[in-house]
Formats: sequence, C-alpha cells, structure tokens
Amino acid sequence: LTVMVIGSGGREHALAWKLAQSPRVQHVLVAPGNPGTARTEKCRNLPASTIEQWLDAARLEHVDLTVVGPEAPLAAGIVDAFREAGLTIFGPTQAAAQLEASKDFAKRFMQRHGIPTAAYQTFADAAQAHAWVETKGAPIVVKADGLAAGKGVVVAQTLAEAHEAIDRMLVANAMGDAGARVVIEEFMEGEEASFIVLADGRNALAFATSQDHKRLLDGDRGPNTGGMGAYSPAPVVTPDVHARVMREIIQPTLAGMAAEGTPYAGFLYAGLMISPQGEPRVVEFNCRLGDPEAQPLLARLKTDLVDLIEAALAGSLLEVEAQWDRRPAVGVVLAAAGYPEAPRKGDVITGLPEECAPLEPQEPVLVFHAGTAEREGQIVTHGGRVLCVTALGETLREAIARAYAVADRIEFAGKQMRRDIGHRALNRHHP
Ligand code: ATP
Repeated sequence: LTVMVIGSGGREHALAWKLAQSPRVQHVLVAPGNPGTARTEKCRNLPASTIEQWLDAARLEHVDLTVVGPEAPLAAGIVDAFREAGLTIFGPTQAAAQLEASKDFAKRFMQRHGIPTAAYQTFADAAQAHAWVETKGAPIVVKADGLAAGKGVVVAQTLAEAHEAIDRMLVANAMGDAGARVVIEEFMEGEEASFIVLADGRNALAFATSQDHKRLLDGDRGPNTGGMGAYSPAPVVTPDVHARVMREIIQPTLAGMAAEGTPYAGFLYAGLMISPQGEPRVVEFNCRLGDPEAQPLLARLKTDLVDLIEAALAGSLLEVEAQWDRRPAVGVVLAAAGYPEAPRKGDVITGLPEECAPLEPQEPVLVFHAGTAEREGQIVTHGGRVLCVTALGETLREAIARAYAVADRIEFAGKQMRRDIGHRALNRHHP
C-alpha cells in the first residue's frame, strides 16, 4: 500500500513512523512533512498544503489511503473532497468535525444528548456576556467559539480577567472570526486526561489513555501551549472511570452524531476533567489525535495501525482489538525560544540522532520532529514546538529518565523544556 499522511508536526511524524511499520505499507508520503519524516524509513515528503494539492498528490502517487493529522484540513472539508473524488481517506467529514471546530456546536450537541460537561452560555454581544459573568462569579472560563490553535481559552481566576477576555474577543476582535462568539462556562475542578478513540461511525475502539501538560513551565505554571509533553497510560483514568467515559461520553456522542445524520468516523479525542470523585466531564472534543499525546501513544501501539484504520473505514471496529505495549511511554517536547508568543526560527539544532529509528529494546527512544527545517545541511528550529523525544521504560520513572537523557543531549539556542513531564502519575503512585 501507499499511504499519505497530511500534516507536518510531531503527531504526523509519529503517524508516519507507525504506518511505515506495517508490513503491508511500501510507501508513506507525508504532505508537507518535516525533516524528521524525510529521514524515516519508507517515508518521503511531498510539497502539498491545500486540499487541491493533496487531491492532486493522492491521484498522481496512486495513494491507497490518506490519514489526516491536524484539525484545520478536517474543518475545511478534506474528507468530503477526497470522498467525492473516490479516494480513501480516514477522518471525520466537515459536518462531523464541527465537534472541534465550533465550541458552541459541541456544547449544544452535548446538552441535547445529556453528555456531561460544564454549564455554559454562548454570547455574540459583549454587554450580555459581561452581565452574565457578573452573576456567575470567578473562576470562570471564556472561550473563543472557533479554532484558535489552543490560544482561544482564558481560565479567568478573577472577574476582571473574565471581563478583559470578553472585550479582547468580542470588542477588540483579537481572535478574528474564531472569537466572533464566545462560550463562557463554569470552571471545573479536577484532573485532566486525554481519551482518544478510533470511531467507525457507530462504534469506538478506545486507545490507551494519556495525559498532556499544557502549561509552558514546571509545576503547571505559565501560559497555555499546544502541549509540552505527554505520557501514557494516565492512571487517573481508572478502570471504573474508563467504563464511565465509554458509557456516558463516547457511546452517546457516536450515537448522537449518527442520529443527527453526521456519523463520526476518525480519531475522536475527548479532553476530560475527572472530578475528585472520579466523575468524568468533557472539557472539549478534538477531531484528531492529540499532539503530543500521539507520540507516546503510537510508541506503545503494537497492532498494525493500517489494520485498525481499515476496520474503522469498513465499519467493523467491533471485530478488531488494539494491543498496547505494557510499558509506559513519555514524550518530552523541546520548544523554541519565544514559544508560545513568538517562537524564534533558525536556531541550529545539534545532538540529533541521524534518523528516527525503529524502537529497539536496547534504546527505546524516538525523536519526533515538529517545527524543524533543513538549511544548508543543518537542522534548524522552524516552529514553536520543535521536537518531541519519546521513550518507553519498564516503569514510568525509567521512561522519563530515558527521554530526558536524549532530550538533554539535543541543543539549540533558547531551548525550552519542562523537567517534570509525568509528575502527576508519579505522585499518584508515590504520594
Ligand atoms: P486545545 O489546544 O487542546 O485544542 P482549546 O484551545 O480548544 O485547547 P480547551 O481544551 O477547551 O481549549 O481549554 C484549554 C484548557 O483550559 C484545558 O485544557 C483546561 O486546562 C482549561 N479549561 C478549559 N475549560 C475549562 C473548564 N470549564 N474548567 C476548568 N478548566 C478548563
């Protein structure tokens, strides 16, 4: 088979690497890809980054299966376009991708189907939003309705912060169209986890659990980012919580989407808040794998990903199973100077391994590229999140030590890296 992966980040490098492991796959085209995907066995980059270009590439290269990494092409309707052209693609349609692309859509959908989430109201009018916030008090959460690449959410600890966020989005239009409406919601207490499933339109196959670290700095301080590291499994998702998530969130979501005529097929990511009592509620839906969760998850996945995706496309997910390496995995993100506000480009990176080698029991560490570029034979920074060093270990502690041993050898000016990835799981086991 020839498989094409859409995207250029760390998640896409991990997807390409995993798909290339399949004995059924001869070629993995990554469009547009990054220097890491260019150096991965069986993989080749293609310069395509619009739906038209991806369609052309799929036809020209006789692509058998396309897998979409990021949300933007899904929200723009890449799946609909490929299907109309008779090409096989895995991901939700534009209508189904609204679960991520519009927070207002997602909240109304959850309300209609009794799916647990924070109470909320949507506003286009600033005066009404200000008035509502006054009746609710702080802490309270203000969110731009549309896609804002992780930058459209303000968890306001005070009413002043909430008012400021409302003015920024609705009056100053700081988020453009994405912030033309805001969703304001109740603050939820608890611990977050990422719950990702493969969906075939009706049924779901749960992936292993994982947890992201959204804040820039150690101890979960500093600004929100796209994610500074992740690990799998997430012990906060106990077997009981897992069963509740499937029963109360995932199954009603798939049933609801199907009943409304927009069945959901693809990766479905439920960002959860798990209360101290173990009650899961939805923070957000994403219509794709998480980044950086995908890196440790795919490092642990033992089953052929092509087989799983084909089952999802055929509507026969109930007939397959996913096997996971019992060892935990950790992904540590190396970010560029200035990230997240204004990441600097062009810093030379040293200490990288030659290629993203297949996992070997002796050295189970993978260096997935994200914001990198090649300039005159050197690899340089080219985006906010630059690399994600991913390792397996007999214990979480060992996985962490292995990931940091490699991450510490990689250097570039202004490198930013959290030192405490996995701290929640460690504290849970050893309070
Ligand atoms: P992503 O980059 O994951 O797509 P996003 O911009 O779509 O993020 P959310 O995931 O909805 O935004 O929110 C970002 C973060 O803000 C969450 O991970 C969570 O930490 C916090 N958050 C959001 N909503 C709430 C809430 N109701 N209560 C408490 N914290 C919240």
